Amino acid sequence: MTAIRGPVVPSRGALRPVGLHQVRITGGFWGQRQAVNGTATVEHSRTWLDRLGWTGNFVEPISPVRRGREFSDSEVYKLMEALSWETGRPGGTSHAAQLAELTALVAGAQAGDGYLHTAYGRPGQPPRYADFNFGHDLYCAGHFLQAAVAGARTGAAPEQLLDIARRVADHVCVRFADEGFCGHPEVETGLVELFRVTGDERYLDQARKFVERRGHRSLPEHEFGWRYFQDAIPVRDGEVFQGHAVRALYLAAGAVDVAVETGDDDLLAAVARQFDRTLERRTHISGGMGSRHLDESFGDDWALPPDRAYSETCAGVATIMLAHRLLLATGELRYGDIVDRVLHNVVATAVADDGRSFFYANTLHQRTQTEVLPLDREQLRFGGGPRAPWFEVSCCLNNVGRLVASLGTYLVTEDDGGVQLHQYAPMRVEAGGMVLDVDTAYPDQGAVTITVVEAPETPRTLTLRVPQWAGGGTRQHRVSEPNQQIRVELNMRPRWTFPDPRADALRGCAAVEVGPVVMCAESVDQEDGVSLDELRVDTSVAPEATAVKGRRILPVAGGWPYRGEPQTAEQPDPVVIPLVPYHRWARRGPSTMRIWLPTTPS
Ligand SMILES: [Zn+2]
Repeated sequence: MTAIRGPVVPSRGALRPVGLHQVRITGGFWGQRQAVNGTATVEHSRTWLDRLGWTGNFVEPISPVRRGREFSDSEVYKLMEALSWETGRPGGTSHAAQLAELTALVAGAQAGDGYLHTAYGRPGQPPRYADFNFGHDLYCAGHFLQAAVAGARTGAAPEQLLDIARRVADHVCVRFADEGFCGHPEVETGLVELFRVTGDERYLDQARKFVERRGHRSLPEHEFGWRYFQDAIPVRDGEVFQGHAVRALYLAAGAVDVAVETGDDDLLAAVARQFDRTLERRTHISGGMGSRHLDESFGDDWALPPDRAYSETCAGVATIMLAHRLLLATGELRYGDIVDRVLHNVVATAVADDGRSFFYANTLHQRTQTEVLPLDREQLRFGGGPRAPWFEVSCCLNNVGRLVASLGTYLVTEDDGGVQLHQYAPMRVEAGGMVLDVDTAYPDQGAVTITVVEAPETPRTLTLRVPQWAGGGTRQHRVSEPNQQIRVELNMRPRWTFPDPRADALRGCAAVEVGPVVMCAESVDQEDGVSLDELRVDTSVAPEATAVKGRRILPVAGGWPYRGEPQTAEQPDPVVIPLVPYHRWARRGPSTMRIWLPTTPS
């Protein structure tokens, strides 16, 4: 078995990541999604990249008239990363020929000094690095470095890809030796991972400089403020994530990478502290982050209105990137809880069953019926609405693509003492000197059976994360002989969940969760003529997995909506309110939906 390292390979830390080859997801919830991702989604993405000219932008001679937004190159790179992990993962589909073609395409667009971007620096184009706020030169470079790392580690791409990446990184190190950084973090993680592949310390040092340079309000002033660009406060001085959610989370992931490789425990602690505070006060029940549409940003503490939840799919992917890095660095298994939540309520929600349309923003409350979108047009409006085949800003689909293709590396870790299972899926795990078969229908069922196929030479420990909703903590088992079976039963009894009383927009509401899955009421399941606005749930009755009890409110008079007495009158007869998993919503035609349901006065 050839060792294939995954996307994140720190040189130190409490836990070690497993290689891509060490975990084979054999079916179930994520096996199905990996199969669709590795065939339909990557094909769909390539079709759109070609149709819109985003791959064509790389064709020599590069035209001064360029198609797509300033960050469209990064979609080609994220697709290359997804294709590499897909080609390298056990049971994946090979895309080596396409990777060779795309590598040649990208090679042709690289300038003599290593600079790589199709929008800048040629006759008729704006100059390079003319706009640090929105230019995305370095952002795109970062995605390219990650793609090249994936191509090199899997061996799926030609060796030339890594050579191009080294020249890109060399150029960045020269150009940004003394000053400057990108308004959209991303190059930091790419540089550190390229350092981990090549051992070239200049790349790590450049990433460290980029992290340290931020926060001194040196970028040009902009209407969104310095917070948006992660330039309002130095990384190590922050208390909570703020500004543009994806920018904040990518920067945090890069800062963890730098902290781990440079032994900067203060920086690591600063990021962990900000993440904890963000989880405590600025995260939706789905695990989604971001509650402002205007600037795609975090809201203030407790500003979590469900009908304005932004929860960009990319912020979900970035949350998993960050939590995984903190898990590896600290060994604290609790980081698996947020990964579990985001996987099953953001990543699983975002993409359609056929893998060919997706949500950019993931609202928690859809008030008006979703539209049916044409399948042959890109959408200009990306902050709301139904799943679309493509958006003018289409960052999210390829981000899910690269995550899902490499998902196995996020489920399991190892250390000198043994193996840790953080997420549950049917899979074969070869780690810590043992081979394990994991059998489960998670997240639909809570039973997990682990069979020891091959035992380690000396007994080792198998550690299992017990999610917070199932009691929390860990379970440890000694693995000493083949055919040993370990069974875990996670309590999947449906449960009521109530918000922190300080979250104003959620006050007086409750939600239902089953295991890691957040439930929702969707209009297509309600009785004819029943609007989701009229429903109240009775939390004195235990929820079932598919429905809760409640009442409808009395018809409300029209006119001025604010009156001199509380308006809480309900109809006397109880009603049954059907529920479905949130990740299943908007898959059966136009609908309205809500997760948080107002409660009856009782
Ligand atoms: Zn996105």
